[in-house]
Amino acid sequence: MKKTIYHGIRNIRVEDVADSAPGRGEVKVQIKYCGICGSDLHEYLHGPFPESPFGHEACGTIVAVGPGAEGYNTGDRVCTLVPGAYAEAVICPVERLLKIPDDMDWKRATVLEPLSGAAYAIDRGRVTPEDTVFIAGAGTVGLMLLLGLKAMGVQTVYMTDTLENRRQKALELGATDVWDPSAIKSPPRIKKLTGGRGVDVAIEAVGIEASLKDCLASARYQGTVIVQGIFTERALVHMLGFVTRETTMIGTNSIKPDLAMQWLATGTIRPESIITDIIPLTDIATRGFDVLAAKSKTAIKIVVEP
Ligand SMILES: [Zn+2]
Repeated sequence: MKKTIYHGIRNIRVEDVADSAPGRGEVKVQIKYCGICGSDLHEYLHGPFPESPFGHEACGTIVAVGPGAEGYNTGDRVCTLVPGAYAEAVICPVERLLKIPDDMDWKRATVLEPLSGAAYAIDRGRVTPEDTVFIAGAGTVGLMLLLGLKAMGVQTVYMTDTLENRRQKALELGATDVWDPSAIKSPPRIKKLTGGRGVDVAIEAVGIEASLKDCLASARYQGTVIVQGIFTERALVHMLGFVTRETTMIGTNSIKPDLAMQWLATGTIRPESIITDIIPLTDIATRGFDVLAAKSKTAIKIVVEP
């Protein structure tokens, strides 16, 4: 079968690898779609993480069931929350599987994993429907956070992004106000919008110093800053403001699929609308990673179809 092999920075190749059978407690899933995650792009550009998540946003159909994989049958539709799914098939232990309803669209299933990241962050940050929220960054992470907040009834969500298409998408998906942080300074803007108070929760969804600073300076006294962006560089932050405003800062890097599935079941949000491109596996480097690395003016979520 064909599988994308990571050889190094900006060096991935789709190769023929030996087909394997599922072992005890595992199933084999034929991949329908696998989304390109920001963390994958990070590995593509800067090198692998200690535990590489490369190719983990996949869904498909079970084609073989190993011994002891109770409760699963061939033909079941599932999300596979394991790396290695930029391939025609992946072997997945049952504890990393999530069954998806028969009537759920494949595109909707593909964005379940990124939505689960937002679910975890929102849950961990104890965001309530009454909170006023600022999200720095309207890429996949920021947009999934926006949709999660909408699903739980949060009324006011301010967002920023330097790219026009992402700002447009954020507005389309229900952000209260969106601006370009390179043209408009966020902390004074948020002060004005919140009557001088600042937001209850600010979420960093880019992974750069400037947006972390915007979050820290935009949160109210005793407010919360949630950091979900993946940082490549060290960030120099003004700790005096952090201390005097008694900010709570939380890093998040896990998923909460049950909550994301609950949000999807309500039917009120359409996270699949962030998918801008579906490309063949063979084009994963040129039409996938290279396009995202060049900060495409049109692409948001690119999905690979083996
Ligand atoms: Zn992901």
